Amino acid sequence: MLGESGNPAMARLFGQKWLESRAGAGVLLNYLLTITTLALGALLFAGCAGPVRVTTIDDTERRIISVAQWGGTPADESRARRHTINRITLHHAGVAFPRGKDPIAYMQNLQRWSRDTRKWLDLPYHYVIDLDGNIYEGRNIKFAGDTNTEYDPAGHALIEVVGNFEEVEPNEAQLAAVVETMAMLAAKYRVPVEKIEGHKDHSRQTVCPGKNLYRYLENGYFRDRVRERVKAAAAS
Ligand SMILES: [Zn+2]
Repeated sequence: MLGESGNPAMARLFGQKWLESRAGAGVLLNYLLTITTLALGALLFAGCAGPVRVTTIDDTERRIISVAQWGGTPADESRARRHTINRITLHHAGVAFPRGKDPIAYMQNLQRWSRDTRKWLDLPYHYVIDLDGNIYEGRNIKFAGDTNTEYDPAGHALIEVVGNFEEVEPNEAQLAAVVETMAMLAAKYRVPVEKIEGHKDHSRQTVCPGKNLYRYLENGYFRDRVRERVKAAAAS
C-alpha cells in the first residue's frame, strides 16, 4: 500500500520525492515478485492446493490511513466515553466534496472543528471514505461517537462518506470502500447485517446519509455484499 505511487493521498502523505526515489527499485522488485509468484503458482498447481484465499478483512485493515498518517492527533482518553460496538451506521458529509479538494486537509479541519468549535472529544465518525475510496481512521473505535441529532451513538460504528448524496450519486470506489469497511467491522465485532443501517434510521432530524447512498441500504446491496465477505473471511 505505502509503495503505490498511483495513490494521490499517499503521495501527499509521504512526498512525491520519496515515491519517485522508490520507482527504480520498484521495477526490479516487480520483476522479482513476478518470478516468485510464477514459481509459487507452479508449486501450488502441482500440489493441487487450489486458489489461495485472500483474507480481505486484513487487507482492509492494512489499507486504512491512520490518524498519525493523515496528520491528526490522538484524542484525550480521560474524556472519552467507552462503548461496545453492536451496530454499524452510515453517514454522509452532507456538503459537496468537489474533485480536487484535499481529503487530508478535510480530515485535519474536521478534527479541529470537532474539538474547537463543537467541543467534542474528537471528530464524530470512526471511519471516513473519500472520493477515491481511501479509508481514513477517525475517532478511536473504542470511543462512542458524537452527533448533532437526538440519537445516542454509543454502540454504533460510524462510517462517513464525503459528499452530499441528496445531490450526487456515490461512485464505484466509494461503494466498494463502504462494503469493505462494513465487512471489516461486522467480522471484527460480530455485528449481524440487519444492524447495518443509516443515520436516518435512528433520527428523525436528518436525511443523512442522503437518498442516493441510502438506496444501497434499502435495496440490500450493502448487506448482501457484507454477508458474502464475512462468510468468506470466516471460511479462510
Ligand atoms: Zn449522519
